[in-house]
Amino acid sequence: MTAPLLRPFPLGAVRIDGASVFARARDELLHLARAYPVDRLLAVFRRNAGLDTRGALPPGNWEDFGHPDEDAWGEHDYPGREHARTANLLRGHYAGHFLSMLALAAAGEGDPALRAKVDELTAGLGEVRDALAATGRYSHYGFLAAYGEWQFSRLEDFAPYGEIWAPYYTCHKLMAGLLDAYELVGNAQALDLANAMGRWVHGRLARLEPERRQRMWSLYIAGEFGGMNETLARLSAVVGEPRFLETAAFFDQDHLLDAGASGADVLTDMHANQHLPQLIGYVDEYELTGERRYLDAAAGLWDQIVPGRVYAHGGTGESELWGPPGVVAGDVGHRNAETCASYNLLKLARRLFAHTRDARYMTYYERTLLNHILGSRRAVRSDTGPEVTYMFPVHPGARREYDNVGTCCGGTGLENHVKYQDTVFYQGPGALYANLPIDAELDWTEPGLRVTQRSGFPLGESITLRFDALHSATSHTASAEGATSPAGEVGAPAAEGGSAPTDCSAPGAARTVLLRKPAWTAKGVTLSLNGEPTGVEAVAGAPAAGAGAALTDPSGLGAERTVHLRVPAWAAGGVTLSLNGKPVGVEAVAGEYASLTRVWEPGDELVLTAPVSLRAEPTIDDPRQCALYLGATLLLARSEATTALAFGLNGRRAFDGSLITGRTGPQLLAELAREGTVELDGTAFEPCWSGEHTRYHMYVLSADAEIAFGGNGTGVPNRQRADGSTFLDELWAPGSFPDRAAFLHRVAAVAARVRAEGLLGRDELATVLTAAAAFDGATGDPRPVAPGDVPPVPAFDGPVPPAVAIEILDQPAPSGWYTTAPRIRLRGFDIDRPDTAADLALELRVSGGDWTPYTRPVAITEEGVHRIEARVTGPDGLTGTVSREISVDTAPPVSRATVKELGASVEITLHADDGVSGVERIQWEGPGTFWGTFQEAFVRAIGDEPQVIEYAATDRAGNEEPRRRLVLPGKRDRA
Ligand SMILES: [Zn+2]
Repeated sequence: MTAPLLRPFPLGAVRIDGASVFARARDELLHLARAYPVDRLLAVFRRNAGLDTRGALPPGNWEDFGHPDEDAWGEHDYPGREHARTANLLRGHYAGHFLSMLALAAAGEGDPALRAKVDELTAGLGEVRDALAATGRYSHYGFLAAYGEWQFSRLEDFAPYGEIWAPYYTCHKLMAGLLDAYELVGNAQALDLANAMGRWVHGRLARLEPERRQRMWSLYIAGEFGGMNETLARLSAVVGEPRFLETAAFFDQDHLLDAGASGADVLTDMHANQHLPQLIGYVDEYELTGERRYLDAAAGLWDQIVPGRVYAHGGTGESELWGPPGVVAGDVGHRNAETCASYNLLKLARRLFAHTRDARYMTYYERTLLNHILGSRRAVRSDTGPEVTYMFPVHPGARREYDNVGTCCGGTGLENHVKYQDTVFYQGPGALYANLPIDAELDWTEPGLRVTQRSGFPLGESITLRFDALHSATSHTASAEGATSPAGEVGAPAAEGGSAPTDCSAPGAARTVLLRKPAWTAKGVTLSLNGEPTGVEAVAGAPAAGAGAALTDPSGLGAERTVHLRVPAWAAGGVTLSLNGKPVGVEAVAGEYASLTRVWEPGDELVLTAPVSLRAEPTIDDPRQCALYLGATLLLARSEATTALAFGLNGRRAFDGSLITGRTGPQLLAELAREGTVELDGTAFEPCWSGEHTRYHMYVLSADAEIAFGGNGTGVPNRQRADGSTFLDELWAPGSFPDRAAFLHRVAAVAARVRAEGLLGRDELATVLTAAAAFDGATGDPRPVAPGDVPPVPAFDGPVPPAVAIEILDQPAPSGWYTTAPRIRLRGFDIDRPDTAADLALELRVSGGDWTPYTRPVAITEEGVHRIEARVTGPDGLTGTVSREISVDTAPPVSRATVKELGASVEITLHADDGVSGVERIQWEGPGTFWGTFQEAFVRAIGDEPQVIEYAATDRAGNEEPRRRLVLPGKRDRA
């Protein structure tokens, strides 16, 4: 056993404040947890087991009844592909996630109604398991699924995705839900079901050759097994059964373990969410076996993902697959960042943090929990669906993929929002870790303190931890009725999300026995429980504390303890830490923990100030693609455009790299709190966590038209080089400057280079240097310039090459695309001799084709995204080159309708294709309906008279095709 250094608190010991931004999503999911009928979750299981479905419909989408002709086949009953009638083969996974959600919510809220629902769902699954077992068709007792065992036996024959789905994925969700039901609320039947499933899994896999298992797990999707290794390892610890740890190792993927431990990058083109849960399991396998390679693999693969493969909100992957290492801007597609992947990255982050105490895992955790996860829940109420995202895409003009009843992300999305408190605080021996600045209350039972954290996160600038005596406060968890506490057993490992709530009202709950040690005792005081030493320090005359049968000091006047408070990585300069109003001499560095050791007493107040600024963070592979943050909040530009939006960013940077807007950090936070958005150059930016359903831009293009400092323009064009970079790009490439001297030194050096390239005139150079000297570096208010302040003009005597500019003579559509062929004009110039333009030779090249001489404006008629390059050559043979990108889509999409005869009615499906900008929507109307957006196939009854259905598609560029007509003959015409 290699226990983690730190562990989470029980879910019921931490409460998120009702005014926190996180309460919105939590409360909506709690509503769904209470409102949604268990019978609907059980319907697919009952149908498969031949039980009465009680008239309940399945949740729908992926989670639906199979084909009407599908049999509940046993292991050897597979009739062959040509006869198998299969559909919805992942069904059952959603119930597993729902069970986890109910258990998490019951433990966190202490709500007996939620607990009763855990019991009801578990009991229903128990009836299904027994009904399946009674048929005698399954390979081992314990099989539990909403489909036949044949999916598992077909996987052993390497059946591809399509013929089967991912049978062990579903198995994992069910086992994880059952284990949660046991560990979090003490449902013993759930443990019995999980135990039997574990034995069944062992029975299936133990008889296979290791090579066969390796090949199974490498199958795309079909071999996806979620976190089977994690759950089996957990199960082995809970029931003390080594066989389950052996079964967990059946799921080890050797090539992944080797790569993670050796640092070899193997992730490109791998399915992100297929492999992420395995890494979590590796941490569990490390804890139980002590084999270091498991932890090394998990940590090593983490480093291959974060930061080199994550987007601004913490998501990863394009179309569910990882791209090349260190490529973010270059891997922006239309389906980035599956929400399941972030769910699993967060689980992995907290596990790795517990073993390393490395603050960078919590920096990632904070960013992703706030922006991707909270932002994945739409701000609406629903009785039927989780209203969470599948993809949370990152391309220009993206929309969140909300809804997701029954999908994988709908499943993980059920859990995401009812456990926001699970990582806010961690504990170690004599230590408290405040990891996330979310407004919350903690029952820190070890010293008997109630810790109240207040920050207004993510809209505040300070974090306050107030310490009060725990016994004087009302215990929230005391409301949990009858919560037995299996995880309170001494030696049980901390479960995902923490162990069961400490419940003072119920039998079986952990309680503290306080035994006064007489002051007259001599040396050698011992404390034992049931004949075993407790390991609790028992010093005469002093209170003792420890785990298990702890002696706890209710007054808080106990031993010294260390509070580790994470200083947010976004804190902008001037971080201070004070205790009870006085500064403490503790180093507080952004992105690291500030630690203070003392005897913490009721009334203590620890305050960290963390000033907020507006920042533009470039992607790792393209300095011009930037994401804007206000403190921890990622800001999304609201815009109907579907091509990149450009903003002048470098021209408004302060020496520390933050953006000068004429408003202070507190003013920007107040604007965000008041308006729901922050305005920049006329564009509204909304928080990534808003839950809105707008079209947005996660990245904007950093492009300053003129050279500016602190937002003050100079009138000098910020001309582009051949590679697209500019004076301001190169000036700010370091990100920030330590002082004025460093700034002015670089201004002079870069200006000299740009002038030598022919992109800065003699007078322009002087203007730029003077303006730089007048920049105060912080506010943008001009400072007086003394003669000695202006950096000397660098000596430069050589000939200056000519330059060229690309101008587009037409306006793009609001989408940013050109929907009529745009005309390109080139303009050559010699920066020092403006009258010599006629002597310059100009050439044009489109999308890597041949260079052609330029004489007059050229229309770009070809569809697509084009790179336009221009080259200029002077009489002395010196050349200059420049390029820019334009997006052209002048043709509308092409739509069509397919009609399926259903007897007295027809089912109509509309399709559309657009190979350039992509299909935005299809709209339609028929008799009695309005011009609405097509969502899914619809049915029309055949009437006496013919019916006309009109429909048309629109692309993302904004082109709409003429309406098409579909005529449905009436009954008379059909006869
Ligand atoms: Zn998913």
